[in-house]
Amino acid sequence: MLRYRIEPADRHSHQFRVTLTLSQPAAEQGLSLPVWIPGSYLVREFARHVSGLQARQGSREVPLLQVDKSRWVARCRGSAALHVSYQVYAFDTSVRACYLDGQRGFFNGTSLCLLVDGRETDAHRIEIGSLPRGWQVATAMQRVRGTAHAYEAADYDELVDHPFELGNLWRGTFEAGGVPHEFVVAGAYVGFDGKRLLADTQRICETQVAFWHGRGTRARPPFGRYLFALNTVEDGRGGLEHRASTALLAPRRSLPRPGMAAGHEAYLDLLGLISHEYFHAWNVKRLRPAEFARFDYARENFTRLLWFFEGFTSYYDDLMVLRAGLLDAGSYLALLAKTINTVRATPGRRVHSLAQASFEAWTKFYRGDENTPNITVSYYAKGALTALALDLSLRAAGSSLDAVMRALWRSSRGGPIDEEQILQAVESAGGRGLARELHHWVHGTAELPLQRLLEGAAVAVQVEATPLAAGLGLRLSEGPLTGVQVKSVLIDSAAARAGVSAGDELLAVDGWRIRRLDEMLQWTARDRPFQLLLARDRRLQTLRVEPDLRSPLRQQWRLALDQRASRPALARRRAWLGR
Ligand SMILES: [Zn+2]
Repeated sequence: MLRYRIEPADRHSHQFRVTLTLSQPAAEQGLSLPVWIPGSYLVREFARHVSGLQARQGSREVPLLQVDKSRWVARCRGSAALHVSYQVYAFDTSVRACYLDGQRGFFNGTSLCLLVDGRETDAHRIEIGSLPRGWQVATAMQRVRGTAHAYEAADYDELVDHPFELGNLWRGTFEAGGVPHEFVVAGAYVGFDGKRLLADTQRICETQVAFWHGRGTRARPPFGRYLFALNTVEDGRGGLEHRASTALLAPRRSLPRPGMAAGHEAYLDLLGLISHEYFHAWNVKRLRPAEFARFDYARENFTRLLWFFEGFTSYYDDLMVLRAGLLDAGSYLALLAKTINTVRATPGRRVHSLAQASFEAWTKFYRGDENTPNITVSYYAKGALTALALDLSLRAAGSSLDAVMRALWRSSRGGPIDEEQILQAVESAGGRGLARELHHWVHGTAELPLQRLLEGAAVAVQVEATPLAAGLGLRLSEGPLTGVQVKSVLIDSAAARAGVSAGDELLAVDGWRIRRLDEMLQWTARDRPFQLLLARDRRLQTLRVEPDLRSPLRQQWRLALDQRASRPALARRRAWLGR
């Protein structure tokens, strides 16, 4: 048994104090802190926040030798218990690390709990000590019977898969799939509609349990209880999936207010996030890439399958909100069109396949910069569109992606899978030709046949003009104080050909000062060449910009229910969207 005593020691300096106790240490006992957290594919080097590391056995101080950026060896004598203590700086508001201030505390084990060499499969216990008055603890880790704040995990993997939320929390409970669910909210304003949040989340959970396991009293999710831990802030969004919980971050304005009408955009976004992370309890936490059968916490864990585990989860997140009756078909198509237009405005899709984008997530998608849209494509967004294309193709063949997901769940018994198994499941449901097509979509860079497939499901594709900046190939940040700043210039666009660069500040068009680029439409036509005055490194330059009338960047899609479609197309849409 390994024990970690965790104390919110200095809330104002954002310091947790951790004391690790292990019996019978090795003579040269290796200790390390993970460099990443599963679910978020970036080397974060959590050890950079550790300080004051000390070790002792009884009254003897044990020498600690640091051997790399996140690893130490303790020179122990005899079998007396080893005590290791240290501080961890906790001031990361995301869901991926740890946080502590006067209001709340949050941590993932990957940020706070040293991994003990050779003892990974021992039981691990966490005891929360010195809890400030009025603070509560929320976690899906099993509480030790008869204790106030001691929790136990079967091994290190489980220990770091149950985040902890500490503070004065709003709490609510419901049951779904015959299993207790808890929802806690930190940082909320008083008087938000908690009842509605619980009721809507419950509908999403019931829909997903039924999706994987059918309806009926014997349909049970693969966890005995589940926790949603939401932290609400002024601005921010994120979620991280775990085996029996999720840590969520969302703006306060996304919480439902009493009497709020259905279809509120920020609230629908929160429901989509809830749905996404809950779906992961099956798709990536259990059904998972073969490469994740065992995690290596010391380095990147590469897989070519994030298009499936993130992309297909993204496809199902809003679809499950729709199936739960919380989103209408028209609004669902508007969200789908947004994803389509995002991918269409990403030139990187023509040079980087989904499999490559998955593999290089660690150094490309997660370390995005001004050139990211030119060299990679989001495996979330394009992965979701691939799921859409696959679902509509399977439906045309008399099956569905739902059936393929369930077949994979059954055949893997909710465990690791590889690409071959995915292709096999598609072949069984939709034929060899479709499996081959999916392979091309994932490993190639050709466009997905979305228009044909959508029209075959009674969805009309209408083409409309994009905003001015998008049509020129510019991604901007515009504000009254900052002016017009260029964030990215898309390759092969009018702006790229004119010589505009990321970092430029756009000042004037044809001699007229602008505060937003759209203002130029007041004195020049959208399609006419114009003189652009900009500042670069404090020097002024004038460039001539020639709009490219044939650029696909000038067009975006709008999707609509097509009531005049053929009868089979309408039937396919009903089976897919319920109307
Ligand atoms: Zn995800």
